[in-house]
Amino acid sequence: MKTVVALPGEGIGPEVVDATCELLMGTGLPLKILTPPQGAPLPDETKRAAREADGVLFGAAGPKTSPVVSWLRWEMAAWAGVRPIRFFPGMRSPLAEPDGIDYVILRENSEGLYPGREGPLADLVRLMPDIADRTGRTVREFGTEGRFAVKVVTPRGAERIGRFACDLARRRQARGKPGKVTLVTKSNVLPKTDGLYDEIVGRLVREAGLPFEHFHVDDAARRLVRFPRAMDVVLCMNLYGDILSDLGAETAGGLGLAPSGNFGDGWAYFESVHGSAPDIAGQKIANPIGAIWSGALMLEHLGHPQAAADVVRAVEQVVKQGPHTRDMKGKASTSEVGAAVAEAARSQSKVAA
Ligand code: ATP
Repeated sequence: MKTVVALPGEGIGPEVVDATCELLMGTGLPLKILTPPQGAPLPDETKRAAREADGVLFGAAGPKTSPVVSWLRWEMAAWAGVRPIRFFPGMRSPLAEPDGIDYVILRENSEGLYPGREGPLADLVRLMPDIADRTGRTVREFGTEGRFAVKVVTPRGAERIGRFACDLARRRQARGKPGKVTLVTKSNVLPKTDGLYDEIVGRLVREAGLPFEHFHVDDAARRLVRFPRAMDVVLCMNLYGDILSDLGAETAGGLGLAPSGNFGDGWAYFESVHGSAPDIAGQKIANPIGAIWSGALMLEHLGHPQAAADVVRAVEQVVKQGPHTRDMKGKASTSEVGAAVAEAARSQSKVAA
């Protein structure tokens, strides 16, 4: 028996997590789903349950539940964000030729500018008056009115995400994909911080004997729109991954469909890429597919690859044939779409058996 902790968050989070839990229970797999209280701060009993669980399913963070995601991602150090970008016929892509889009954005979740270290510029000027940009302009010359943010990168952070990218690329290669790692940084402007990722990740991927390429983030944004089929594993530093995964999700049908898994050392949690969507919360029209697909990533993590594949095929079928929620120009409710995916997954597993 595997234990899953479901933390719905807020807004549309509870609606899409409910649909996902219904589907998980309907698989007949030996799963126990716990729903401990959320609250702010997150209660200790909830932290304990989530820490000890085999997998954690999160809904969506909003103003009241941001401590939940902060705990999941940063305090639990889920440093590798895996965000598959995959187009299935029936998805409403704004691109003219979306067929065949199938890549993964791998977001480094723990370094860079997150989770936000900021302060008054006066403090920085007092401590490091002579730190200068490439033109020789020192911070002192900005005066003391203003604020600053700190970007931190470490060789350890770059190495572990680089190795994760290589493992992911090898697993994809074994399934007939190119196994290429594309690194996204902005090292022309930040040669020391982003340059450290260029150096370390580039070396690791080459040592692994895998195809490697590097693009600066502005060029990468353009390429994800123009040449999405050329992508395989796209390793992004934290902020770039945050932005590019929303961009990628839109090219493959929209935020409501995009899943993610967040992996730390021996621990992981799963959530759709979208936020709490206050504009549609409570209307029962949120698309549950991003959350359900995240549930499929969790099933794989729990050691149920066949059930995970059945759910992804069920998603493919429902995307193609309906029913659809409003974001896909349909009229179905969240639970109707969830039930349709669950039913299609059960049919898939009968076919497989
Ligand atoms: P956050 O800052 O928390 O990441 P966000 O600003 O990116 O959130 P979202 O809450 O993700 O915003 O929503 C962005 C838009 O996408 C909204 O108009 C919302 O209605 C739509 N959207 C997001 N998720 C879904 C979904 N599951 N189904 C339908 N529409 C969605």
